[in-house]
Amino acid sequence: MKKVMLMAVAILFSAATVFAAHSTTMVPDTTKTNKVKPAKVQYTCTMHPDVLSDKPGKCPKCGMTLVKKEPAKKKADKMKM
Ligand SMILES: [Zn+2]
Repeated sequence: MKKVMLMAVAILFSAATVFAAHSTTMVPDTTKTNKVKPAKVQYTCTMHPDVLSDKPGKCPKCGMTLVKKEPAKKKADKMKM
């Protein structure tokens, strides 16, 4: 009898947690807003940092394919020095 009660409690508990997880996933839309936010991406030449373009293409100076320039990569730039 006790085992049955424990099983029932366990099932109820897991059902409750699943329900709670479901309802909480519907509340936060931080991931949604993150996706909607348009990230301003610029493309630059690795050899010519002064070359900037808002779309992918080739460097007018050396013909190299432009790479994405992300403003959050300041740390990486410092490590290169
Ligand atoms: Zn270049």
